[in-house]
Amino acid sequence: MSKVILEVKDLTTKYITRFREDVYAVDHVSFKVEEGKSLGIAGESGCGKSTLALSLMGYYFPPLHYTSGEIIIDGRTITNMAPDDVRKSILGKEIAYIPQAAMNALNPTRRIINLIEDVVRAHDPTAKKQEIYQMARESFEVLGLPAEVLQKYPVELSGGMKQRTVIAISVILGPKVLIADEPSSALDVTSQKMVIKMLRNLMEMGYIKAMIFITHELPLLYNVTDEIMVMYAGQLVELASADHAVFDPLHPYSKGLMGSIIVPEAGLRDVKLTAIPGVPPNLKKPPAGCRFAERCKYARLECNVSPPLRTPGHGRTYRCILSEEELRGIYEHER
Ligand code: SF4
Repeated sequence: MSKVILEVKDLTTKYITRFREDVYAVDHVSFKVEEGKSLGIAGESGCGKSTLALSLMGYYFPPLHYTSGEIIIDGRTITNMAPDDVRKSILGKEIAYIPQAAMNALNPTRRIINLIEDVVRAHDPTAKKQEIYQMARESFEVLGLPAEVLQKYPVELSGGMKQRTVIAISVILGPKVLIADEPSSALDVTSQKMVIKMLRNLMEMGYIKAMIFITHELPLLYNVTDEIMVMYAGQLVELASADHAVFDPLHPYSKGLMGSIIVPEAGLRDVKLTAIPGVPPNLKKPPAGCRFAERCKYARLECNVSPPLRTPGHGRTYRCILSEEELRGIYEHER
C-alpha cells in the first residue's frame, strides 16, 4: 500500500438554515486517497459532492458548519486547527480547490501575473515580484501554457485557456491534494481534453500527490480516476475501483446511476439505458433507515433501519442490508 496523502474519518458537516434547521449534507463519510492516486466523486446534484469538497478545504463559513470527524493531510490533522491557521498554512499549500465555473471568477481588471502575486503573497507577504514571476513562468512552462498569458487580462483568454490558467494558479504553491470540482463542464470537447490532460500531467509529474475529481460526467470519471465514490443524500453508498464502480456496481443506487449513462468502452455500446425513478429525500428530515429506500426497487421492511457499510473485498465498500451474494443473485435474475 502506498502512503496515504488524504484520510477522512467519519466526517459530518451540516448547513444550518435561517430557520435553525440542520441539513446534514455530509454524513459520516470516510475514505483515503493514496499518493499518486485520484478519487472521483459521483452522484446526483445535491448529494453532497461539493459540500464535501468545501468541508475538506476547511471552508466552514455559515451556513456550513463542521460537526464531527477528522481530515488528515499527509499525517497532519486539520480539523483541530484554528480557521486562520488553516487559511494561512493549509489552503493552497497542502490542499487546493478549483471550484465550479472557476474560470469566471478571475478578476477581469487584473493581469494573470497580478492574480498569481496575490495568491503567493497571501502566504508569503515578503515574496519579491521577480521571484514570483520566475515561479509563475516555470510553472506555466511545465503545464504547457505560454508565458505570454501571464501578461494578459482574463478577458483576452478563451474559455479553455482561462480554465487551464485557473488550474495553474491553483497549484502555484505546490499543494499535496488538488480538488477539481466540475473542472471541464461548460467547455468544448477539445478544451475538456486539454484540461483533463493537464490534470493528469500534474499527477504524473508529481506536482500534486493526490487528486479528487468531481463531475456529473461519469465516463470522464472512469477515464481520469483510480477509484470512484458514489454519494447519495450526503452519505457514501459505494466506494470501489473505477472499473468495479462503472462496470460492476453493487449498490442499487450505483447500479441505477451507471445504468443511466453510456461509457464508450467495448462491451457497453448496446447497453439499454435506465433511469432512477423519484427524487432524493429532504435532508432536513432524512429517513431513519436507508436513504435510498423510497427509490429502491429491492427495498423491504428491514431497510427501515440504517443499513451497514459492508466491505466485501477488492477495496470495495457499500451501504446496504443486502449481501454481495444477494445483490448479485438479484442482478443475475434480472438479466
Ligand atoms: Fe435498497 Fe434496502 Fe439496500 Fe437501501 S438497504 S439500497 S433500500 S435494498
